[in-house]
Amino acid sequence: MDIRSLTTAQLKEEMVRLGEKPFRAGQIFDWLHVKQVGSIDEMTDISKALREKLKAEYTLSNIEIVEKLISKQDNTRKYLFDLGNDIIIESVLMKYSYGNAVCISSQAGCRMGCRFCASTVDGLERSLTAGEMALQVYKIQQDIGERISNIVIMGSGEPLDNYDQLIAFLKIMGEGIKIGQRHITVSTCGLADRIEQLAQLKLQITLAISLHAPNDDIRRMTMPIANKYSIDRVIGAAKDYANVTGRRVTYEYALIKGVNDSEDNAHELAQRLCGSLCHVNLIPVNDVRENNFIRSEERTIKAFADILQAKGIETTIRRRLGSDINAACGQLRKHYKDKTK
Ligand code: SAH
Repeated sequence: MDIRSLTTAQLKEEMVRLGEKPFRAGQIFDWLHVKQVGSIDEMTDISKALREKLKAEYTLSNIEIVEKLISKQDNTRKYLFDLGNDIIIESVLMKYSYGNAVCISSQAGCRMGCRFCASTVDGLERSLTAGEMALQVYKIQQDIGERISNIVIMGSGEPLDNYDQLIAFLKIMGEGIKIGQRHITVSTCGLADRIEQLAQLKLQITLAISLHAPNDDIRRMTMPIANKYSIDRVIGAAKDYANVTGRRVTYEYALIKGVNDSEDNAHELAQRLCGSLCHVNLIPVNDVRENNFIRSEERTIKAFADILQAKGIETTIRRRLGSDINAACGQLRKHYKDKTK
């Protein structure tokens, strides 16, 4: 068990189990998530005997930066991290006027199989622990020497396919470096049953749904998960999430030329989303070497946005940050792995 993946409450239970005083949990948590130490021996106010016990009982996740690329265009930074045993993941830092946002990975690889996505090409290697998710934030914060204010879980992996570690991670962020739920976005390809489960927790995180299609026929062409959950079920779960939490849901829609970008597609999407608490983020699809999807033309994207907006659906077109450093969607990790194979 990774000790860095335990919330304060879980650490307290562990201390009781080990016959230690519960207040030790707070001290240990502070070392792991505020001081962010790399080894248990650095916990100098913990007795040697307890440190030895911790070392025997738990593992401690650690990750190392193996490559860092800084965009000349917009200060976006891409990090490749080594998790040990040749497991490589990537994270991105984006500087905005409101603060520093990091996009982190929740799994090494992914098993969802979306056809436009580079992260899924070689399948899932393994899920990350909550500690490994947290370390991406800590390492980037240390590297830039500035506070991280926002987190998006939109790197490689499907966060709701790693549900328990995700929930622990969200709690740890609030307890340690105090990034509140309203500053965290979780993006999912639409695991409807997990979305329903998440809604029950009544957290204040932003939910982003990777929809990418206006109906099941088109969605099934690019996203295998659409065979398991219908678009009605996914949107239904997202609408319930908005109702239960009062949080506006984001729908992500990557525009692929000739696949999902017609005016009819826009009208159909508008009809499905009309009247719900939501926001649509249109993304010009990034070319991935392994597939032959082509980005929609700029005027097509604009026309698509206009149709949604005319129906009262708030719509933005995503700015492309870091395009000179392959900052998008699992591309860098894939290139690195191909290079070092
Ligand atoms: N599994 C989660 C989070 C990781 S993917 C999810 O599906 O939401 C993060 C976002 O990038 C998703 O919206 C995904 O659909 C999108 N994406 C993946 N490949 C892309 C590409 N080539 N171009 C544009 N967006 C892409």
